[in-house]
Amino acid sequence: MTTFEDVVSKAKTVAGAAGKKTSEFIEVTRLKIEIAELEKETSSILEGLGRLVYDAQKAGEDVSSLIDECAVRLDGCQEKIDELRKKIDEVRSAVRCKDCGATNTDDSIYCKKCGARIV
Ligand SMILES: [Zn+2]
Repeated sequence: MTTFEDVVSKAKTVAGAAGKKTSEFIEVTRLKIEIAELEKETSSILEGLGRLVYDAQKAGEDVSSLIDECAVRLDGCQEKIDELRKKIDEVRSAVRCKDCGATNTDDSIYCKKCGARIV
C-alpha cells in the first residue's frame, strides 16, 4: 500500500535528482568559464610576446629573459586549463544514483549515500 509519506519521499527523491543535474550543469559551466578566462590570458600573453619580440628585434635588444618568463606563464595557464578539463570529465563521468541522485565514482557498485545498487 502506498502511503502519503511514500508519495512525498518519492517527490523529494525526484527533486533531489533534478537538483544534482542542475548542480552538475552549473559546475561544468563554471569550469568552462574559468577555461575561457585562461585561454583569454594565454592569447593576450602570446600577443604581448609577439609585440615584445618584434619591438626588441627592431631595437636590437635582448629580451630572452622576458620571453622565458612569458613561457613559464603560458605553461602555467596550459596546466590549469588541462586540470579544469579533467575536472569537467570527472563531473560528467560521475555515476549518479538513480534512487537518490548522489554522485558516485564510476567504479562504485553500491551508492555511497543510500546503498542502492548502481550497476
Ligand atoms: Zn543512492
